Amino acid sequence: MPQRHPETTATDRLVIVGNGMAGHRLVEALLARPERPAITVIGAETAPAYNRILLSPLLAGEMERSALTLRSAEWYAEQGIELVLGERVESIDRTARRLTTDAGRELGYDRLVLATGSTPARPPVPGLELPGVHVFRDLHDADALARAAQAGRNAVVIGGGLLGLEAAEGLRKRGMQVSLLQREDRLMNRQLDLTAARLLESELRGRGLDIHTEAQLERLEADTEGQVCAALLADGTRLAADCVVVAIGIVPNAELGRVAELEVNRGIVVDEWLTTSDPTIHALGECCEHRGNLYGLVEPIWRQVEVLAERLCGQQAQGYQELPTATKLKVSGISLYAFGPTEAEPEHEVLSYRDPQQGDYRRLLLRDGRLEGAVLYGDTASGPWYFEQTLAGRDLTACRAALLLGAADAQALLDDSLNESPQRPAKEAA
Ligand SMILES: Cc1cc2nc3c(=O)[nH]c(=O)nc-3n(C[C@H](O)[C@H](O)[C@H](O)COP(=O)(O)OP(=O)(O)OC[C@H]3O[C@@H](n4cnc5c(N)ncnc54)[C@H](O)[C@@H]3O)c2cc1C
Repeated sequence: MPQRHPETTATDRLVIVGNGMAGHRLVEALLARPERPAITVIGAETAPAYNRILLSPLLAGEMERSALTLRSAEWYAEQGIELVLGERVESIDRTARRLTTDAGRELGYDRLVLATGSTPARPPVPGLELPGVHVFRDLHDADALARAAQAGRNAVVIGGGLLGLEAAEGLRKRGMQVSLLQREDRLMNRQLDLTAARLLESELRGRGLDIHTEAQLERLEADTEGQVCAALLADGTRLAADCVVVAIGIVPNAELGRVAELEVNRGIVVDEWLTTSDPTIHALGECCEHRGNLYGLVEPIWRQVEVLAERLCGQQAQGYQELPTATKLKVSGISLYAFGPTEAEPEHEVLSYRDPQQGDYRRLLLRDGRLEGAVLYGDTASGPWYFEQTLAGRDLTACRAALLLGAADAQALLDDSLNESPQRPAKEAA
């Protein structure tokens, strides 16, 4: 029972499945509200919620393990929240409103939130089951990779997206010789145009990463002891591999929804109030699917949390809406900020700027004077301002001449135009 919240009047029992980033953020959001239900959190991992995003700097040896913890188990107890760790919810009896964990624990609920996240996707390639092949999703994976990363040995990372690049840099910083395989023609193909991707590639090559774009992985090979030892590409290239990391994407953990016969597509289907096909069950984060969208970054998940917290506390919530998401890469020494489409369409006006000496590149995509996308490499200080203009749908025609110069110059021109506009008719009259 809540000890520190005598004002709590809600009687509903809320069970949150998943003590990851979404589940934990929901707890914090509920605690910030005056009335909240009694809460039980069940997490399959043995550690209490931690900042998964920081696994990359942890792997790179740039951060201590303790810095990742969001809240301790004691904190949960102090808040009057029941926290069950190291148990996986296996089934939900929707009629009886009860769930069962793999330890045989049974729990009743009035409201249930599924925040089960996702699992790394695996390509259908022979050899993927070999010892020495890793994924990079949780603390155990980071520990296993840190143990496998012996200086001077060879690693192959499969996937040239955000996660693959961060894993590759982490292993390289631990002294490994790292080859990175990217199926597409460029790194971070979902976020970057070709120019920015080439700049990134050249910086990473300069640091010693061996990058293969348009690479078709055919199979992984084992040594005489059955341990992975090489990656074979379709063009005949053979790359030595004492350790392989698979980072090609994620698959929502929707199994629990399937077992409970909720509506499930690729993720557990929710409406704009994060409610599943059962009105007493909600889903949020990487396990859910909203209007065909899946999630892999925290920004939209934080907005989902706020909507759901309001609903669960009986407050009037505005439904969850999709918005563009900005991406940053967490590789030290490389600044990169991107949002919106990577390729220009015929109706786009493209503004770009490049300073090879400073290593700066900016490309903006405008449609009818409004910013739809930006790729910034090098000096990314204006990234959040550009993003804000896009979210606001602001007409930037008045500051077009200064747009590439950055936020301060462009904003000054915008302000000038706003100050001038009411006086225009008077000037014209004079
Ligand atoms: C290395 C790495 C770096 C990242 N960097 C960034 C970044 O820079 N920016 C960004 O925005 N995002 C980043 N992400 C993605 C971000 O971490 C996720 O979007 C976020 O963690 C999703 O939160 P979630 O709660 O949906 O899933 P998770 O955080 O994965 O939490 C789900 C939890 O549910 C548990 N669970 C699953 N099934 C059950 C069950 N049946 N019973 C009980 N518990 C269960 C899981 O064990 C897990 O602990 C990164 C991810 C990784 C792995």
